[in-house]
Amino acid sequence: MDKQLLSLLVCPVCKGPLIFDKAKQELWCHADKLAFAIKEGIPVMLADEARTLSADELAGNV
Ligand SMILES: [Zn+2]
Repeated sequence: MDKQLLSLLVCPVCKGPLIFDKAKQELWCHADKLAFAIKEGIPVMLADEARTLSADELAGNV
């Protein structure tokens, strides 16, 4: 994924920074505990479509 594009992306809920999970191809917002999927190179920045992060994922244990 394009690093410059990535730096422009913020969480649609809290407008905070996102963390790119390379292994899962997701963008994580720790504040909202949400993971936004990247489908075919395009981030799906919709809270309704986002997955909820588990406590283990948030703690970095995955
Ligand atoms: Zn957020």
